[in-house]
Amino acid sequence: MSQLTENPRPTALIIDDDAVFRITAGEHLKTAGFNVLEAEDGLSGLSQFRTSQADIVLLDVTLPQQDGFSICRQIRAIPHGETVPVLMITGNDDTESIHRAFQAGASDFTSKSVNYELLIHRIHYMLRTQETTRALREREKSLAYAQSIAKLGNWEWLVQASQFNCSEQVNRILGLAADKAFNIEVLLEAIHPEERDQCQRVLNQCLQKTSQCQFECRIVHPEHGEILTNHEIKVITDSQGELLQVHGTLQDISERRLIEDRIHKMALFDTLTGLPNRNNFYDRLSLSISHARYSKSQLAIMFLDLDGFKIINDSLGHSSGDQLLKMIGNRLSSVLRDGDLAARFGGDEFCILLEDLENKNDAANIAQRCLDTIGQSISVNNTRLYPRISIGIAVYPFDGDSCDTLIRSADNAMYAAKQAGKHQYRFFSAEMTTFTKHYLHLEHDLLDALQNNQFELNYQPQVSLHNGSIIGVEALVRWHHPKLGILAPDQFIPIMEKNGLIVSLGKWVLQSASRQMVEWRHAQVPINRVAVNISGVHFSSGNLIGSLETIIEETGVKPSELQIEITEGVIQTTKESIKNCAKLQELGIKIAIDDFGTGYSCLSSLSHLPIDCLKIDKIFVQNMVDCKNNAAIAETIVSISNTMELSVIAEGVETQEQIQKLKDIGCELGQGFYFCKPASAEQIARLVSTDLLDHQAEELPGIVH
Ligand code: C2E
Ligand code: CA
Ligand code: CA
Repeated sequence: MSQLTENPRPTALIIDDDAVFRITAGEHLKTAGFNVLEAEDGLSGLSQFRTSQADIVLLDVTLPQQDGFSICRQIRAIPHGETVPVLMITGNDDTESIHRAFQAGASDFTSKSVNYELLIHRIHYMLRTQETTRALREREKSLAYAQSIAKLGNWEWLVQASQFNCSEQVNRILGLAADKAFNIEVLLEAIHPEERDQCQRVLNQCLQKTSQCQFECRIVHPEHGEILTNHEIKVITDSQGELLQVHGTLQDISERRLIEDRIHKMALFDTLTGLPNRNNFYDRLSLSISHARYSKSQLAIMFLDLDGFKIINDSLGHSSGDQLLKMIGNRLSSVLRDGDLAARFGGDEFCILLEDLENKNDAANIAQRCLDTIGQSISVNNTRLYPRISIGIAVYPFDGDSCDTLIRSADNAMYAAKQAGKHQYRFFSAEMTTFTKHYLHLEHDLLDALQNNQFELNYQPQVSLHNGSIIGVEALVRWHHPKLGILAPDQFIPIMEKNGLIVSLGKWVLQSASRQMVEWRHAQVPINRVAVNISGVHFSSGNLIGSLETIIEETGVKPSELQIEITEGVIQTTKESIKNCAKLQELGIKIAIDDFGTGYSCLSSLSHLPIDCLKIDKIFVQNMVDCKNNAAIAETIVSISNTMELSVIAEGVETQEQIQKLKDIGCELGQGFYFCKPASAEQIARLVSTDLLDHQAEELPGIVH
């Protein structure tokens, strides 16, 4: 904002043919700090003014050739002369001249018989006024500029003077012709005919009640067409309530409304696919539920999740991922009936609302159409993809009666579809809830369980049935779940086998068990071997041998101190696994077949397998006392292993009778709760000198189950 500034050395131009006046006034002005320029006639005065940019002009009325009035007019016509203060020097009491001087654009006048002191004061005063005027003009300019940015104009109606004033912007917004002056009628005329009467009513009310009002309306601009405007009007009265002034503003809000609309759209629609978003879907769904409740009709929710989208996104990049999602959005829309609603829930999740469902078949048909349409090949960035999608369906009122419950049910059903093999649909059923929820939580929590050191090994002794000494231990993994406590392997191994994490877990178990083995050896704890369970997924993964070599080197465990337990199914399946067994043997690591008897092995086919030990599954051990068949199987296993020179361990030994029976059939080693439940490494170290045949697990101190 400009401020009043004092010109340090202003220039005064004296135009007078009277040399005495020029000299005397000039001297006074110089003493007062002015630069002084002199001209003895009008024309040379004008040319000096043009070149000098004087700050003030002292102009004699009577000049040779052209008089002072004419010169004054010419000064005003020069750009910087428009605002320069011009003091006219008139004859004494020459009122006619004074009048003409003002007409010619003079700022002030003084008589020839000047008091020079007063003259200097007057000149200072004029300069200050001129500075104030200049500052005011600048403010007006910046106000006009601000108004043009805000597309905001203001107007006033000075009622008693019947005068209307308005800012430049008002003319612009209304598109008024240059010769058309603003007034209330002109404003009303510019308003869209459909809204004019209503606006007039509001305005009249405002004037009558001498209050303030606001309204929005369309203006019909002669060039730009319809413009949305906002009006604010305030009425001012005197103390008797007499109307004095009316002030109004009008603003072009078309652009703002456009942005508001866009924001509104963004709040309700997904920017990528253009489909309604989650919030929008919830709104529509809750309306539809109310409608269905009222009309006793059914509706269905389909929850759709792309299969393997993460892989596409990671391998082809996010822009390909986005492209795919867009195409899926289009395909979904193409499948729907009029009135159905497809929405994007975020990520690779979509939801469909099917109203007025006749029966479940309708939903099934649409789900099948979705699978067929979406499953067609698609080209994304020159890569041919076959999108797959899993769909869960929930039906109101059976599977939920609120947005949340219905969507949750559909979501659960979708997971069931994924588990059942993907790219298919499933209707919700009650059993899905607890199972999927639990499964999903565990699956999620497992992702960083290894990093967070939530796994722990317990060890269960393998015992000589003759003297109760520990010949080795089996490492059994436990998961310390932060919320659910200690979880047994059956609850998480199958999940890890599915998502591939089992390989990392297997390595961790091998490493930890090996370290423990070395620690025991160094502490001279007489445990000679640790058995580690290796999942079939890990065994066939191809990198087991490599990891084992590294672990042996890193931990210092002796290969003879390790035994790998695998189930019989694994070893039979591929040639690769037979090769793996041979390599393990080469390394000097022993192999045990776990849960033996429950698989499909033909006992005689074992002869050519490079294995060291069979573990009789606990099912045979536990039933051998009461069931002759089981006893016979156990006996056969023992006799075959004896002829093949394999060692045998009976699993799940719980009672004295079982031990007796096992001894009778020639089994020499056992493992089970009778001796000891799986326990921590420290607890095991404390047990080693005990004769475990004399003790029952329950009586052993400090054993965790
Ligand atoms: P498994 O290899 O057959 O392990 C023996 C299971 O029988 C253990 O269950 C053990 O606690 C239990 N058990 C031992 N003695 C008795 C008994 O006298 N009576 C009864 N009823 N059960 C007994 P756990 O620890 O729950 O492990 C279950 C299965 O999880 C294991 O069966 C094994 O297949 C798997 N597993 C355990 N640890 C690991 C591991 O580190 N890696 C892999 N891949 N699988 C593991
Ligand atoms: Ca085992
Ligand atoms: Ca077993």
